Amino acid sequence: MKVALLSESPADEAALRGLVTAVLGAPPRFVSPGFRARGWPNVAQVLPAVIRHLHFNTDTDVLGVVVDADDSVVHTAAHDAPEYYHPQCRMCQLRAVFRRTTKNMPPAHGRQRLLRAVGIAVPAIEAWYLCGRDPQVSEVAWLDGQERGRAPYSRAELKARVYGTDRPSLAHEIDCALREVARFRGDSRRLENDFPSFAALARDLREARDQARRA
Ligand SMILES: [Zn+2]
Repeated sequence: MKVALLSESPADEAALRGLVTAVLGAPPRFVSPGFRARGWPNVAQVLPAVIRHLHFNTDTDVLGVVVDADDSVVHTAAHDAPEYYHPQCRMCQLRAVFRRTTKNMPPAHGRQRLLRAVGIAVPAIEAWYLCGRDPQVSEVAWLDGQERGRAPYSRAELKARVYGTDRPSLAHEIDCALREVARFRGDSRRLENDFPSFAALARDLREARDQARRA
């Protein structure tokens, strides 16, 4: 299976390769998305161009997109109802971009359409890195905090716990990310359990793999 990844930075992308491999159990073939994004909302802005590029110019099976939630509304099961769309939820927003962009696309390179895999790191990708290492950190802890109006931790604190500083160099960021992601090698179940918005990404990836196998 051929997988392209679009995320907020080169460090995120390096980590995502490890996470996608952990979900699939074996490394897929990673393909360049053809564009680079820097942060939110830039990812959502370049996404239509990335989808069109991958669909028409390559035979990539699935595009994985991951962004941080920051302080946006967290995606919940209620958002998965048919026709539902929460305008402040980044999962709903990114899925809508996929729907809109692929809607009237003709088949290309032997496939109907480029498949999507969307994940939202709540509140930031560093929370995923701390999974299994810091029992305080989970999506439900963040949601509880949002409801009570008091965050259990800040994004800067998460960065400090992962990198030892909230302003890491890119090289240090990549080193730390890869070290943490290595803990999930071959088994992403803990991360899926603690972070439903990662589990959604994992489900999309496995469905894409099953579809690619059937094709
Ligand atoms: Zn949503």
